[in-house]
Amino acid sequence: MRYGIGVDIGATNLRVAIARRDGVIIKKLSEKTVKGGDNLALPNQIIGMIERLLHETGLDLEEICGIGIGSIGPLDIRKGIIIKPANLPFENVPLVEPLEDRFHIRVTLLNDCTSAVVGEKYYGSGKNVENLVYVTISTGIGGGVYVDGHLLLGKDGNAHEIGHLVVDPEGRLLCGCGSKGHWEAYCSGSGIPRFARLLIEEHYKEQYHKSLLGEMSGYNLDAIDAKMVYDAAKVYDNLAIKIVERINFYNAIGFADVINVYDPSLITVGGSVALHNSEIILPYVLNKTPKYVINKMPEIKITTLGDEIVLLGAIAASFKGLDL
Ligand SMILES: [Zn+2]
Repeated sequence: MRYGIGVDIGATNLRVAIARRDGVIIKKLSEKTVKGGDNLALPNQIIGMIERLLHETGLDLEEICGIGIGSIGPLDIRKGIIIKPANLPFENVPLVEPLEDRFHIRVTLLNDCTSAVVGEKYYGSGKNVENLVYVTISTGIGGGVYVDGHLLLGKDGNAHEIGHLVVDPEGRLLCGCGSKGHWEAYCSGSGIPRFARLLIEEHYKEQYHKSLLGEMSGYNLDAIDAKMVYDAAKVYDNLAIKIVERINFYNAIGFADVINVYDPSLITVGGSVALHNSEIILPYVLNKTPKYVINKMPEIKITTLGDEIVLLGAIAASFKGLDL
């Protein structure tokens, strides 16, 4: 019973790893997440990858403590299922039961952001931190939270959907969830292009045609993506800088809400958008957030665990179950 199996279910990639209790990964497999078939297609893909890992490492099931899963949601962790995932073409996807039936070991299911904060707590900067928040800024925005050393889960395992905090009360942009004004609709990888288009159409039409951002997008507003906006801002394109300032204004409100609600001493930040653009996101957030915060400011920094943070949390859960 010396090893654990972690599973990271993303909308695009599925990763499975066998690791030691100290988080050292022995072997890892990565595949594209299955996009077709019946509701058992995904659990069957995971089972196949675990069988391959066991075969390739020569490890026996008796040497495995358990399986931990960090998954895109929404989840019902008590039933062990994903409920109608927005980014996968399935209805309810059973995860815990098919894996327990096959391997007869404990299977623990967590929301991916919850899993990430567990990864930070066990293997990252969150060791010995009792009040810890992880914020991911990626295709979407999400969070995981420890308060007083307790991992927050919520009734179905979906606590702290912080990407759906309202940051724009006028609600100019529609979020993927169907509501208006949510943080994710303005500042995530999927929201930034639409926010940039809105700002350009409202204020900067003329400037767009003389800007680097305009040139990069072929003067086609529909071609703008998040990377273009940040890349242009990094080389001091005036228009891109103005857009990034607006994005960061809403980031500051989002972070302030998180700090006011959870009172963390440390916030770590990850997700592809934050990891690639930390130098123009974090300083602004650190500068502007205090204006909206009543609690004492926490330390805010980029996670050192990169894009393995969800997988590492799943590995911790494989050893500890829900006793995290
Ligand atoms: Zn939303």
